[in-house]
Amino acid sequence: MPQHGQSADVVVVGAGIIGLAAAWRARQRGMAVTVLEREVAGRAASHVAAGMLAPVAEVEFGEDARRGLALGLRSAQMWPEFAAELQAATGIDVGLTQTGTLLIARDGDQARELQRQLALRDSLGLETRRLRASQAREHEPALTPTLHSALEVPSDHAVDPRRVLDALREACRATGVELHEHVRVAQVESDRTGSRVTGVALEDGWPIQAERVLLAAGAWSGEIGGLPERCSLPVRPVRGQILRLRDPAGAGLVRHVLRFEGGYLVPRPDGRYALGATVEERGFALRTELGGVYELLREAHQVVPGVSELEIEELCVGLRPGTPDNLPAIGQGALGGLVWATGHYRNGILLAPLTAELVLSLLAEESSRHAELLATCSPLRFAEERRQEGRHATLSPPEVVT
Ligand SMILES: Cc1cc2nc3c(=O)[nH]c(=O)nc-3n(C[C@H](O)[C@H](O)[C@H](O)COP(=O)(O)OP(=O)(O)OC[C@H]3O[C@@H](n4cnc5c(N)ncnc54)[C@H](O)[C@@H]3O)c2cc1C
Repeated sequence: MPQHGQSADVVVVGAGIIGLAAAWRARQRGMAVTVLEREVAGRAASHVAAGMLAPVAEVEFGEDARRGLALGLRSAQMWPEFAAELQAATGIDVGLTQTGTLLIARDGDQARELQRQLALRDSLGLETRRLRASQAREHEPALTPTLHSALEVPSDHAVDPRRVLDALREACRATGVELHEHVRVAQVESDRTGSRVTGVALEDGWPIQAERVLLAAGAWSGEIGGLPERCSLPVRPVRGQILRLRDPAGAGLVRHVLRFEGGYLVPRPDGRYALGATVEERGFALRTELGGVYELLREAHQVVPGVSELEIEELCVGLRPGTPDNLPAIGQGALGGLVWATGHYRNGILLAPLTAELVLSLLAEESSRHAELLATCSPLRFAEERRQEGRHATLSPPEVVT
């Protein structure tokens, strides 16, 4: 439990991958950092994630997706060094596997869709290669013989998020970050003028003073009180169910990350696999349901029949933090001293190194170095949208009753 009257340079709300990575970086810069976690550190969305580092496979049509691509590519580049730094600091290998990704088409319709996806990636200058069925099976002999074709994305890799969380927790401890678990932040506190944060208040009213408050509370980031309407952020929970599987025969059934209609299979170096994931807009309920899991298993079995031999270790469920445009919100809030790092949706593991770097640049007042990336993920973009909506509402003609 934090001490009464305790103060810090930075209070971080939430100990997921984002809060921990940012806390570590800030502490490395000499700031006094306190992390407050309402449950156990690293046990929410980050704990269940598959760990794909997949900016190229994830890219979609549309302007928002392209802006997201720039963030994803930058962070993917940072991962090898981030993983090496974590290992040097903690001795924990975070399971970075650099074997690339295959996007699988089982039939003609799916192959036509992959062709469209290939054209999009070509137009963006992203390295992607079409493989015939026989070539795909040379890469992955466990693929079904009835496979139609595949796309190879050589630069999309994966890490083991649970090992990353173990390493970040240890790195935070070793550098002197104060981490308090089972401590729920109820609200952000601000000064009498309401223009600058002074810290946070816990559930029982206990205050923690801080120059800066970093809100990194994942899907719950919009639930923290004390923020005026103009400062709040529209973060929503997007549920994902995912299976952890284990091959009793050890590693080797599949080497690449495989993505197919309705799911993906991510191999770990030790013969374990993540088979995910559903994408469901069902509020905060953390329920697992047979329908979604059945679909995942059926699709995976059609692509890699050998998955039926794998043992089920765990069925997990988590809440991705989504924003209206599904891009993250990283940057200064509308209150002085308030910084957001949330809304990472399907890419929080991928974006962790970059997010920590961007947050550090804000805390250290060096943000001009990353002006373009920070503009992409500015939390203020939603306030602007709200203002526009408000103006349209005011400008709309009065209803005429006849
Ligand atoms: C099934 C699934 C698969 C995924 N696969 C991938 C993938 O392959 N690659 C990828 O890049 N991303 C993936 N993601 C997305 C990724 O997991 C998230 O984007 C990322 O974990 C978000 O991290 P976070 O730290 O913001 O949130 P979280 O990990 O959810 O952490 C937020 C923390 O804040 C705490 N908190 C909340 N409210 C309070 C409060 N009031 N006071 C104190 N603490 C509070 C919570 O308890 C929690 O520990 C996946 C997500 C899911 C669900």
